[in-house]
Parts: sequence; structure tokens; C-alpha cells
Amino acid sequence: MLVEKSNRDSTPITLRPGLAERAGALAGALANLSPAERIARLRRDLDGPVVLTLGFGVEGQVLFHWICERNIDVDVVTLDTGRLFPETYELWAETERRYGRKIRAVYPDHVALESLIEKQGIDGFYASKQARQACCDVRKTRPLERALAGASAWITGLRADQSSERRKAGLVSVDADRGMLKVNPLFDWSREAVLAVVKANDIPINSLHAKGFVSIGCAPCTRAIQPGEPERNGRWWWENGGNRECGLHVQRKRGRVSKETVVPATNYAGCG
Ligand code: SF4
Repeated sequence: MLVEKSNRDSTPITLRPGLAERAGALAGALANLSPAERIARLRRDLDGPVVLTLGFGVEGQVLFHWICERNIDVDVVTLDTGRLFPETYELWAETERRYGRKIRAVYPDHVALESLIEKQGIDGFYASKQARQACCDVRKTRPLERALAGASAWITGLRADQSSERRKAGLVSVDADRGMLKVNPLFDWSREAVLAVVKANDIPINSLHAKGFVSIGCAPCTRAIQPGEPERNGRWWWENGGNRECGLHVQRKRGRVSKETVVPATNYAGCG
């Protein structure tokens, strides 16, 4: 739970019961901080486990860099779907070597996966959106529940300018499905600003980025995009319309999420 604490660098947070109020208080405290300071402040002001889900995109790599650099107590976990690019596994290993830290991996339930493959075959996700979502559910969404079990807050690498869907995420929101806070420290950052941090700190990133891949997920469902295309156009490109999300960032209990629970960030000066 959030607690009241004074901090030398900012005013105390006054908190009232209720997750939405907590989200609002936290968003106000984080809005004008840098993303690295946001993570540190979140950790300082929140009791209970804080989890970063790392997909080895440039955003996650930068967040992981700051967490290691500042030795912030955050549980870093990745969802290994079993269908990642070889380059992603190489980056995973390189990241562990660079930071001297193992990254916790969560895998699909083998019974559910075997049942899925029996029903739809190894590449059955191309057959229909429903089949694709069934695969994402078994390989990603359900493992996410185990990754986040018992957490007080979930940190992600979402940025507002990745898509119109993600623009709705806010800096801090309430994850009504899981009863926890969801924090997106890079919400008001551009990809260029993130890449500048990568370059300045020589942070390892996926070698596929140099080949035109921008948002990188499972190998069979990701392709390179043309310059100027929306970032997530390389994901599930065979599907027409709809959002380009696998379900990880989709709220199911929308009725329980009021507008006030999504708190936009004010631009942090220097975010680019
Ligand atoms: Fe399955 Fe593709 Fe979703 Fe990965 S991205 S879980 S391979 S449908």
C-alpha cells in the first residue's frame, strides 16, 4: 500500500484509501520527475513488490538500465513465449552479462500450450484473429498473471506516441483486473529520446532494430516496417484494423475503470 513519506526532493504525498486516489497522488508526485526518478520514487513510496515486465524492446532496456544503475528494488521479469527471435535470446543473455543480474522468466503452462497446439497446430495463429488471441492468451496473457501475482505495481515501457490505444494509458493508472497500480515511466517520452539514452549509455539493444524492426515480439508475428510507418505496424500485420495489442495491456473489466484512474503525465522537461 502507499504510505505517506517526506522526501527531500519533493513535497510529501498525501494519500487516501482507494486505488484511484493512490494513482492520482502518485501521478502528481511523478509527473515532473525524470523516468529514472519516477521509478525510484515509486519504489520509495510504495510497499510491496514492484514488477517490471521486460520484453527486450528499447524502452525496457532503458528502464532496466536505470533500475540496475540505481540498484532499485524492482522484480524484473520476462515472458518467454517460446517463439521469440534468436536475436532476442542473444540480447537477453547479453543483458544479463552486462548488468550481472539474472532476469526472471515466466513460461506458458505446458498443459495449456499442448492443448493449444493440438487444436490449432504450431502456426495456427495465422488462421483467424480468434486463433491468434488464443495463442497470445496461452503464451503471454496467462503467464503475465503469474508474473504479476502479489505485486503492488506493474512498471511497463509503454509510450503515448506508440499508438492511439497506448495514448490512453497515462503515466499512472489503476489496473482494475489485477487490483494494482500500473506505471509507465516513459509515457511522455519519444522513441528518439529513448534511443538517445541507449546511445549515451551504450545500452545493449536487439540487433534486429538495425534491420528495420521497431516493435519486436514473437518471431512469426513480427516484421520490419518502412520508415515513417506507425511503430506497431510490424506486429500481426496480416490482421486488418483493430489495435495491435496481444492482450497484455488490455483491460478486461473496463466498467470498473473510471476516467479519473488514468492520470496523464505533464511533459518532463528534457524528454525530447
Ligand atoms: Fe502466439 Fe504470435 Fe501471440 Fe506470440 S505474438 S503469443 S506467436 S500469436
